[in-house]
Amino acid sequence: MIDHPSVRDNVQLAPLTTYKVGGTARFFAEPGDLGELREVLSLAPPDTSVVVLGRGSNVVVSERGIDGLVIKLGRSFQAVSVGDDGDVTAGGGAALPKVARLAASWGRGGLGFFVGIPGSVGGAVRMNAGGHGSDTAHVMRHALILDSTTRQLTRSTPRDLELGYRCSNLGDPDIVVQATFATTEADTDILEDEIREITRWRKANQPGGTLNAGSVFKNP
Ligand SMILES: Cc1cc2nc3c(=O)[nH]c(=O)nc-3n(C[C@H](O)[C@H](O)[C@H](O)COP(=O)(O)OP(=O)(O)OC[C@H]3O[C@@H](n4cnc5c(N)ncnc54)[C@H](O)[C@@H]3O)c2cc1C
Repeated sequence: MIDHPSVRDNVQLAPLTTYKVGGTARFFAEPGDLGELREVLSLAPPDTSVVVLGRGSNVVVSERGIDGLVIKLGRSFQAVSVGDDGDVTAGGGAALPKVARLAASWGRGGLGFFVGIPGSVGGAVRMNAGGHGSDTAHVMRHALILDSTTRQLTRSTPRDLELGYRCSNLGDPDIVVQATFATTEADTDILEDEIREITRWRKANQPGGTLNAGSVFKNP
């Protein structure tokens, strides 16, 4: 048992993934902020395996479920903001399409490709998500990574994380709690047109409303 208000036992994971399959999580936590996340980790029984679930758009959960602690980043990890320098900072749980749309509305270019990827910022950093001629490594300045074992925060660049084609050196103990992206100043109307065009292309070329996790095979 993990005695914390953000933790529930035996939670069905299938509804939280795009494939809609899989068993239950022994423990399921939705911490609202970094303080709660650290509390939950400190209360977990020793040797509990920890897995972060983003928006579930790139995972297949076994029917046997996960005999450990599954963490879904809650409230404050959804925040997206823009700094005076134009950098966009987003919580690890923020939806990528939301990051793209907000950046465009602020006249900040370079993040439009995120609109077509139905994952979270944390999931994007973990696998260097990309498309439409860009990827996370290309736009990310740095990410804050919480080591779930030591509960230490580290600020890492794309180079530190060895972001490559749909891969990084992050493992299950690592939780991406925030990432900051470089942007360029641009006209909001042009950026919103770009977003509409990417959305139109996706609808025309990729089936929507089906149970899938995007590309399953590696791009040759
Ligand atoms: C219709 C469709 C289209 C897609 N198109 C693209 C595309 O164009 N380009 C592309 O790159 N991908 C695409 N994908 C795949 C997917 O959206 C991306 O891989 C996305 O980055 C996964 O993010 P997620 O939050 O859903 O991760 P999840 O599926 O929840 O998790 C995937 C992995 O990331 C880890 N993870 C999740 N959150 C965190 C975190 N905060 N910290 C550390 N690790 C974390 C998980 O533990 C797991 O190992 C598509 C998927 C679908 C369903």
